Order: sequence, then structure tokens, then C-alpha cells
Amino acid sequence: VSTLSDEFALIDWLRRRSGAKRHGRVNLSIGDDTAAIAFPEPSEALLTVDVLLDGVHFSRAKATAREIGRKALAVNLSDIAAMAGRPLAAVVGVALDRTLGSSYAQELLEGLERLADQYDVALVGGDTNIWNGPFVVSVTLLGEATERGAVRRSGARPGDWIMVTGSLGGSLAGKHLHFEPRVREALRLHEQVDLHAMIDISDGLAADLHHILDESHVGATVDAEAIPISESARTATGGQSALEHALEDGEDFELLFTVDPQDGARLLQGNPLHVSVTRIGQITEEMARHLRHASGQHSPLIPTGWRHTF
Ligand code: ADP
Ligand code: MG
Repeated sequence: VSTLSDEFALIDWLRRRSGAKRHGRVNLSIGDDTAAIAFPEPSEALLTVDVLLDGVHFSRAKATAREIGRKALAVNLSDIAAMAGRPLAAVVGVALDRTLGSSYAQELLEGLERLADQYDVALVGGDTNIWNGPFVVSVTLLGEATERGAVRRSGARPGDWIMVTGSLGGSLAGKHLHFEPRVREALRLHEQVDLHAMIDISDGLAADLHHILDESHVGATVDAEAIPISESARTATGGQSALEHALEDGEDFELLFTVDPQDGARLLQGNPLHVSVTRIGQITEEMARHLRHASGQHSPLIPTGWRHTF
């Protein structure tokens, strides 16, 4: 890759790459002061942003530029998935560490673009900054709700089954970079059942379930034995049990949702997804949050998980 001199050379390079691509909803892409996206039918726009920091969301020592670019979009796709929405268009902001050179930026954008293509998302703009500070990347993603509306965190009802896709824990071993955002799965579920509440697991199962419970003003009993524990949670080191990893590790990016028991049973009988769906517990009217163990004993379900602290 030849070395580019400045931000405009990088933007030109990106624009030439994406110039031939056409997206039905994009009226104006890279090159003007804003992008323009068509909203032909009355629909609800979904808008989300994530900022990724070296040493927190990735480590430049352990991830390639392509992987980081991919993840920067993937985490936003996961948020649109959590609303059971369709992603449309993204803008990316970068603060590039000058010492990394232009090829690093190109690889980052290639990684991002590749995932964007896979999900029919148009990369329609961004902001390029080059400085002597640390490398930061942020993606903002625009999507839209389907005809059935966006699925919120606030709709869980007493008696609902609590369900989760995939398996949980130990994502730091690699899944946090390579996970597949559950966009298609969420849309499929939204077609097939009445999703009462949904969230993507970014902070950890225990913490993210609490977000649903708090927003819905309900409680829950989770069956410890039923939680699908990933292979990397079982092999993770550091003194925590596999169950603790599954409950507390962040960045699984699986879907956590609640449905009424009839819908839940239908999903278990004929899973319409390519990924597993597991019932892990039930929503209760009583506000308490319990973990029920194999012995029959209960312990409090504590929302331990990742959080940024001042
Ligand atoms: P402005 O000064 O009006 O904000 P810029 O000079 O920053 O515009 O950017 C020029 C065009 O290039 C804009 O359309 C912007 O969205 C796009 N752009 C800038 N950086 C990126 C990037 N990293 N990825 C994609 N598009 C970008
Ligand atoms: Mg401008």
C-alpha cells in the first residue's frame, strides 16, 4: 500500500473504493457536508454510537487494524439487532495516532467496510483526525425499526420466559473481536414471536438482565444450571468459575430477550435460528432477582459486570 499524505488523500482513497457501490437508501454519500438517507415510508429511525479505546475495547498489541475496524461497526450492529431493527448506514470518526501511518488507517477502514458490505450497510461518511495522541475509533450507525416496531428493554412482563442466544462467557479469548452481530437472528425472532423486551449482552448477562428488569419494573429468577456456558468460559483462567464468567464477562453480544411462555416453547420446539436459543429463567412480579441453583437454593443475582468508572 502506498503511503497517503493526509486526511484528504485517505478520504479520496475511501471514496474511490466505495464509489461504485450503490445502496438503495443512500442519496448522498462521502464527499459532502452530510450524507443523505431516504426515509420513504413512515418509519422509526434507530440511531446509535460507540467509542472504542485502545486498552479498553481492544488492544493494538493483540488485534489487527482490520479486526478493530470490524469490531467498531459490529458493536453498533449488535445494538441495532437488540432493537430488532434493520441497519442502514454508518459514519466513522477516527483519531489516528500519527506514528501508525496511513496503511493502518486503510486496513482499519477495510475491516469496517467488509462487515458493512456483509450487512448491506453503507459507509456514508466520517471524520478523520491525525494527531500524536492515542488511537480512538467511533462508529455511528443509523437503522430503522421494522413494521412491527422497535423492541425495547421496558416490555418484560411477569411470567415471561427469559431466553438467550448462543453461549456465554470468556469472550476475551477471541469472541469479542470475531462475534457475529445477531442482526438476522433478531429480525427472524421478531417475525416469528412477540418479543416483549430485548437487549444485547455487552456488559455481561447479570448486568444486562438487570437493565431489562429495571426498565420493565419486574424481577426475575434465573436457573444457574440452564445458563449456556461457552467453551472459553470453561477454559478461562483467573480464579472465577465458568458460571461466573458466563454471568459477568462482557462482550458476548448475544441476544437476551423475554417472551410469553407459549412463544418461548415454540422457539424451543422449532428453533428458527442457526444459533441455539435457551430458556434461562422467568420474569416475576416480585422485584427481587434470584439465581436458583441445582440444589434448589437461591442466591441474589448481582449485576456484576463491566462498567466504566470515574
Ligand atoms: P467537513 O469538514 O464538512 O466535516 P470533512 O473534510 O471532514 O468534511 O470530510 C469530507 C467528506 O469525507 C465528508 O463527506 C465526510 O463524511 C467524509 N469522511 C471524512 N473522513 C471519513 C472517514 N474516515 N470515513 C468515511 N468518510 C469520511
Ligand atoms: Mg462541512
